[in-house]
Amino acid sequence: MILKVLGTVSPYCYQDKNCPGYLITTDDSKILLDCGNGITRNLVIPEDLQNLTIIISHLHRDHYGDLFSIAYASYVYHNLRFLQERIKVYIPELSIEDNIYDYNLITNLGMENYLDIKTYTKDTIININNTQINFSSNPHSIPSYSVKITNNNLSIVYSGDTGYIGNTIENFAAGTNLLICESTFLKGQIRRKDYHLYAHEAAMIASTAKVGTLLLTHFWPDIEKEEYLKEALPNFQKTLVAKENMLLKIK
Ligand SMILES: [Zn+2]
Ligand SMILES: [Zn+2]
Repeated sequence: MILKVLGTVSPYCYQDKNCPGYLITTDDSKILLDCGNGITRNLVIPEDLQNLTIIISHLHRDHYGDLFSIAYASYVYHNLRFLQERIKVYIPELSIEDNIYDYNLITNLGMENYLDIKTYTKDTIININNTQINFSSNPHSIPSYSVKITNNNLSIVYSGDTGYIGNTIENFAAGTNLLICESTFLKGQIRRKDYHLYAHEAAMIASTAKVGTLLLTHFWPDIEKEEYLKEALPNFQKTLVAKENMLLKIK
């Protein structure tokens, strides 16, 4: 599996940094995890849209803003006959009162733009040839999911957005080759509610789960990424920080 990092910051794009997005290519599938603002700058279009499956971890706009760019690119390139297959987009199932505005916005994008919009829950399993996708529910301000991609005994887990208390990523990511984990806060920053992780908490999760590599992401746009690395390393040595256009081969 090959991971291409498309975006790493929140809540807005900054200089050459985009909001979250990770393109994973296996021998038989192509999966885009989240679709944050600006990520289309780092996609190769239309090639990357061919046979693409998009998973949106939750309906906060830093995680789906560029779905609008992809929808319009899909509309144009399908009409030009460069694309044949509709792009599959999976979003969390609507729970009562949550995100109805965002949910309707996305589902209304579907038809005209050649997107096939489907919903998932924590129990959904998606199979694409020999690649399997599973979900685990996170504590966050709205329904939010971790996503696991498994192919030929290799796996990648992406945390999405998550709080620390009550998250189940340690179990969900146990033994995974790569954990892409949010690390929104640094020690000294005040977390008013437990909706996101500190960098050292991401490292503690990686250590307990005994993952192969921890890739930190979901940074503040104007904070140096090395700060997050410094905080995480004492808890987990095999830590990297995600950078736009970084490529990681999982084998
Ligand atoms: Zn969020
Ligand atoms: Zn976020």
